Amino acid sequence: MEFDYCTWDDDYKGITQTIRRSLLDIAQVSSKKYTSVLMQGSGTYGVESVISSVIPDDGTLMIAMNGAYGERIGQMADVYGIDHVDLIIDEQQPITLESVKQMLKRYPETTHFAMIHCETTTGILNPIEEIIPWMHEQGIITIVDAMSSFGGIPIAVEDLKIDYLISSTNKCIQGVPGFSFIVANEEKLREIEGIARTLSLDLYSQFDEMEANNGKWRFTSPTHVVHAFAQALIELRVEGGVEKRFERYRDNQSKLSEGMKKLGFEPLIDTDWQSPIITSFKYPSDDFDFGKFYSKLKESGFVIYPGKLSEVPTFRIGNIGEVYAEDIDRLLKVIEKLSQKIS
Ligand SMILES: *Cc1c(COP(=O)(O)O)cnc(C)c1O
Repeated sequence: MEFDYCTWDDDYKGITQTIRRSLLDIAQVSSKKYTSVLMQGSGTYGVESVISSVIPDDGTLMIAMNGAYGERIGQMADVYGIDHVDLIIDEQQPITLESVKQMLKRYPETTHFAMIHCETTTGILNPIEEIIPWMHEQGIITIVDAMSSFGGIPIAVEDLKIDYLISSTNKCIQGVPGFSFIVANEEKLREIEGIARTLSLDLYSQFDEMEANNGKWRFTSPTHVVHAFAQALIELRVEGGVEKRFERYRDNQSKLSEGMKKLGFEPLIDTDWQSPIITSFKYPSDDFDFGKFYSKLKESGFVIYPGKLSEVPTFRIGNIGEVYAEDIDRLLKVIEKLSQKIS
């Protein structure tokens, strides 16, 4: 990251192409049927690129929502005047195939379907493997926000019939923040030329430029971030790939969850639906002071997340990144000491 690269330089474009190919491997897709496109901006820009680029004016988007990131797709559809029908599910429950089927019966005009894989709002893991293939069979184009799962949970994108999958540099692939990427069914992607509602987030045009010009981004790309991401992909491979990273995340999550339970903190989400990425815990008492808890943990080197729920007061602990069993042990010890002091 300390070296400056020109965005039009052949070596630099070659790195972009290498990244595009690696993403297809991680997505378990064949390069004949799928392609990947890198997009400037954080994860939301990638989701917005898809939502604003792939749905024609006469299309209808069904959005499954059980948290803030599903709702955000609804906001995007509103901004662009895209017709959408919202399947709203309780934040503590997963999206089910049954609910999607009923919704489709009510809204047969649906042409596109979007859902979140790991809803980072709560840490719930939605069962894309049950829902997406079924939606595909109904002739619907499928969009999955896999921001906080891709690279950390194996996802067989081609087998599941996901048409557009979106993720970003700084979640489970453990790069630094700075761009997002889309793994796309190339045949579907080639059908959307000219329908984008923005210039800079136009998914087809970015794809076209990268293909025609060997990895050239249309506008200035985050060169340092791209290099860091290429390194992050190497580190993922060295760790043993997605499967091994998944095991580490899963083991860390269950160690964290078990340890926290012993200290009197109850996880919000049922273990059946709990993702290995981030865990929501209920406040242990009515007078729990999150601000104080947060600052004390920060002093010990741990930064956690506030809750994002309307109904239940919670906080969240994430374990994406270079985090190992000994880090979880250390965190639990610090929380144990804090709890003794606070109570
Ligand atoms: C992090 C995240 C996003 C995107 O967030 P940015 O802040 O724009 O990177 C979108 N969806 C989910 C599920 C996420 O976890």
